[in-house]
Amino acid sequence: MLVRLLYASRIVTPPLTPETLDAILAVSRQRNVVAGITGILCYTPELFLQVLEGGRGPVSALYNRIAADPRHTSVEILSFEEICERRFPNWTMGQVNVGKVNPATLLKYSEQVSIDPFRVGGRASMALLDELIATAAIVGR
Ligand code: FAD
Repeated sequence: MLVRLLYASRIVTPPLTPETLDAILAVSRQRNVVAGITGILCYTPELFLQVLEGGRGPVSALYNRIAADPRHTSVEILSFEEICERRFPNWTMGQVNVGKVNPATLLKYSEQVSIDPFRVGGRASMALLDELIATAAIVGR
């Protein structure tokens, strides 16, 4: 059975450094491929928004590990659902720097030209991720 989990969190010591981001992405791409997990990591200097897809057991285990990671805090699940198919099958962990996203795209889903998943919630955050895929804003693998 496949599930999709979306969560948001706050970076403990902002701003996010390239070294921290690179370390997270490296371990993600290495381990997610083995666990059959795909997804996207969206980031700003202060926040993470991540979607994870895969089997219920592997996604739950990974989420518990991520939630305990001291590099971020205030980890909140925005949505969790059973799914028939993946939305992000091509990414072991795609990445999006929200600072480089077209402001009009952000404004479509938010009150401000910025992303605040804690305010806009799961549906709008997922719709934003879908749009970022459609506009080829996601990089990585
Ligand atoms: P170990 O590497 O054995 O580390 C032990 C502990 O130290 C863990 O709590 C770990 O979180 C923490 N830790 C590891 N490196 C650092 C560091 N540089 N600074 C401070 N603490 C550290 N992992 C995945 O496999 N897939 C993902 O998709 C994924 N996404 C992530 C998204 C975010 C926003 C964050 C913050 C982390 C993510 N991680 C992801 C990393 C995950 O939290 C674990 O660090 C990683 O999976 C290794 O787990 P481990 O139990 O082997 O920890």
